[in-house]
Amino acid sequence: MPSPIHVLNAIGGTWQEAESGQRMDNVGPKDGTVVATLPRSDGKDVEAAVIAAEAAQPAWGALPITDRADMLDRIADVMEANADALAELEALDTGKPWEVARHVDIDRCIRNFRFFAELGRTRPEQTFAMDDAMNYVLRKPVGVVGLISPWNLPLYLLTWKVAPALLMGNAIVAKPSEITPLTAHRFSELADEAGLPAGLLNVLHGLGPEVGQPIVEHPRITAISFTGGTATGRIVAATAAPMFKKLSLELGGKNATVILEDADLDTVVPGVVRAGFLNSGQICLCGSRVLIHASLYDAFLPRFVEAVEAFGIGPVISADHRDKVEGYLALALEEGGQILTGGTRGEGTGFHLTPAVIAGLSPDSRCATEEIFGPVVTVHTFQTEEEALAITNGTEYGLAGSVWTSDAERGRRFAAQMDTGMVWVNTWLHRDLRVPFGGVKHSGVGREGGEWSLGFFSEAVNICVADKA
Ligand code: NDP
Repeated sequence: MPSPIHVLNAIGGTWQEAESGQRMDNVGPKDGTVVATLPRSDGKDVEAAVIAAEAAQPAWGALPITDRADMLDRIADVMEANADALAELEALDTGKPWEVARHVDIDRCIRNFRFFAELGRTRPEQTFAMDDAMNYVLRKPVGVVGLISPWNLPLYLLTWKVAPALLMGNAIVAKPSEITPLTAHRFSELADEAGLPAGLLNVLHGLGPEVGQPIVEHPRITAISFTGGTATGRIVAATAAPMFKKLSLELGGKNATVILEDADLDTVVPGVVRAGFLNSGQICLCGSRVLIHASLYDAFLPRFVEAVEAFGIGPVISADHRDKVEGYLALALEEGGQILTGGTRGEGTGFHLTPAVIAGLSPDSRCATEEIFGPVVTVHTFQTEEEALAITNGTEYGLAGSVWTSDAERGRRFAAQMDTGMVWVNTWLHRDLRVPFGGVKHSGVGREGGEWSLGFFSEAVNICVADKA
């Protein structure tokens, strides 16, 4: 692997510099060195990508869906053959351990393609019979779609959009986070190697305001699928809504992990540690607020702290992000909290922070209601289910959460009252790709997953045919 890696834009089946010729650095979080340089693209590159996408889309959209599903499988095959090397790039770019990159990120990227390929082959045609007519629902491609993705699960979240977008016959202009461009770049080469026709997958690198914003603004990109922070999502929505674009927004979260008084701590402790700290707490679904019944607090806390200290994590993504997380740790002390463990810089020049547990904060403090998106969990107690629900639902976010109890029926009842798009009972991040994925309130608009993704990346057209001509 050359060092630093030279990342290029993929436009129309060729790999190019930004038209401006400008490049920028990409710093690795493990030791703070420059691991790659990338094109600093702008609106001119977006225009070139849209022209390439428009040239490629009609032929692709006209193929039977089963042919497109076969291509998804070929892409999965090539990714599988290159899985270890892809994991190496993801680990280099994000700082996560190679095993996590390989078995959480890259395995899931491959599954994204296999899953949507299978769905494309097996989903029945939708028809609605009337006494005197038959309705046929066609699923037409949207056309050219814009995909914008974040740095925490770089290729995992990008392929979660690419696979259904291609399956439904669209051409893509994608922008990965400028902090983590490596796997998106390599993936554009692998898709080409798999035989994906040129121009269907255009990948542009660079900064959000300089290349993401022109994608959202482009009049001939008619759907935007965005995953990222709530503040950026607000800008994307404000830009796209007056143009009547299809819009999918997967945004931030401040997810509660609720431990009811009948929960079994042997199951709870490892589950809650994983929910809080997997990927250094940098997953939108992470349970960053632990709400525990007061009767269990004394038994839970020392076991939780011990397990957190034993849980190995990688660095956070960047120096800026580490500063942001440290800012919240300082705020926690100002707000009256106690840091029971963690929150200190690790050794070396990378962006390491030890996993932190904070107790003693009011559930409506800023640290307990704002998204920190790092290795920090706050712990709160409650006496009644009503109180637990009020705390759970007391933030502007509504992405996900989990409930832990020895009575699964009780867990389901509690879960149904949570104002979130997803809830796990006695587990966390247990994913079936067929189910709806997304948030309510400020955590997003729309759903991804299975049929929901296919619905977003297509236009449903109804044709009603009368029985008598
Ligand atoms: P950001 O919102 O900062 O960035 C997301 C993407 O948007 C990046 O590619 C970014 O580019 C780009 N971008 C920035 N400004 C604009 C703009 N004006 N127009 C178009 N695109 C733009 O999020 P992060 O990358 O920091 O990711 C972390 C956030 O993502 C967290 O809030 C997390 O909760 C959320 N997230 C949500 C998930 C969900 O499914 N709900 C899943 C994973 C993460 P650049 O990097 O160059 O700024």
